[in-house]
Amino acid sequence: MSSATAGAPIKCKAMVARGPKQPMVEEEITVMPPQAGEVRVKVIANALCHTDIYTLDGHDPEGLFPCILGHEAGCVVESVGEGVTSVKPGDHVIPCYTPQCCETTCVFCQSPKTNLCPKIRGTQGQGVMPDGTVRFKDKDGKDIFHFMGCSTMSEYTVIAEISCAKINPDAALEKVCLFGCGISTGLGAVWNTCKVETNSTVAVFGLGAVGLSVIQGAKIAGAIKIIAVDVNPKKFEIAKQLGATDCVNPKDIDKPIQQHIAGVMTQWGVDYSFDCTGKTEIMRAALECCHRGWGTSCIIGVAASGHEISTRPFQLVTGRVWKGTAFGGFKSRSQVPVLVERNLRGDLDIDHYITHRFKGVGETNAAVDALHSGDCLRAVVEY
Ligand code: NAD
Ligand code: ZN
Repeated sequence: MSSATAGAPIKCKAMVARGPKQPMVEEEITVMPPQAGEVRVKVIANALCHTDIYTLDGHDPEGLFPCILGHEAGCVVESVGEGVTSVKPGDHVIPCYTPQCCETTCVFCQSPKTNLCPKIRGTQGQGVMPDGTVRFKDKDGKDIFHFMGCSTMSEYTVIAEISCAKINPDAALEKVCLFGCGISTGLGAVWNTCKVETNSTVAVFGLGAVGLSVIQGAKIAGAIKIIAVDVNPKKFEIAKQLGATDCVNPKDIDKPIQQHIAGVMTQWGVDYSFDCTGKTEIMRAALECCHRGWGTSCIIGVAASGHEISTRPFQLVTGRVWKGTAFGGFKSRSQVPVLVERNLRGDLDIDHYITHRFKGVGETNAAVDALHSGDCLRAVVEY
């Protein structure tokens, strides 16, 4: 089976990030056909994530320009390259920046302990496809780099087959695109990375979409006390709706927040804590508010480049555990479709994360402004 456009270059609109610290530019680009092991997809909807903005704002020292950002999307397969068997034209897919090659020789894919398949890591980081070339050309025929193996701020993009999570076509792509990054990350941090048990106590620092999905996941896991921490008290209402039992603004407390949580709000600290801010001093607070003897703290936030974490080693000697997660530990191709099924069944609602909607890829800069506004959880742009 093939589509009318298969095998030929496609001209379409895309947002091109020409350089750091400048607005993206809507341009007509050419998307070349997928090569062996690759899939060309029509992007139906893309949600903005802070990692896109982090690169756009020039904070990522490895950020390459010009590039096409975007990595939280819902797509339909347009055509496939040679040897691709797991998806076909018309399939609905979520591009995943963490691929899953599933090869028997991949010790990462074969291990239940991790989702970090390194198969295309090198080229993905260099902004190119696995064969070392790009599929995007600007109007002058010059190369445009890929981003996180996804580049979904374009009406069409090319991704590796091993980055394609094939999902139930009944799911609305303009909603379930959220499972491409932030929401899956928060849920997975709770369920996979920390394996939070029933009756646990939890503290969540930072109540953006990621922190709120940690709260949602912790509630589902049966946590009895969920402390939500943010310097923006406007986030507390939604946090409570999702399951937070206590909300605290560190600015209202006259001692370090970790002492308040581990001494006033609980007796010995919480069983699990999560940093969803990306700030290294908050990562420290999150570790230090953990329960003596067993408390586990998980770093989810992406810190500014060059920043380092610190604490007194005694914190770990006395039983606290410091860990981190990428994409919530979910193996992308096998587990993202399961999240979508749960959403379709009605037991994993995500509608509340979509606070802003836009129409047309050209509205992506408006969505970036919305994301910066402070009351935005996720802005979804439908193409
Ligand atoms: P967001 O900006 O929407 O939310 C961050 C929240 O932290 C905001 O509500 C903000 O008010 C709050 N905050 C800021 N400073 C604070 C402080 N000192 N104390 C308490 N709260 C504070 O971001 P998001 O989309 O929810 O993402 C959160 C982080 O997760 C980002 O760093 C993002 O890059 C990262 N992330 C990581 C992964 C991963 O795989 N590890 C995946 C997606 C996102
Ligand atoms: Zn992301």
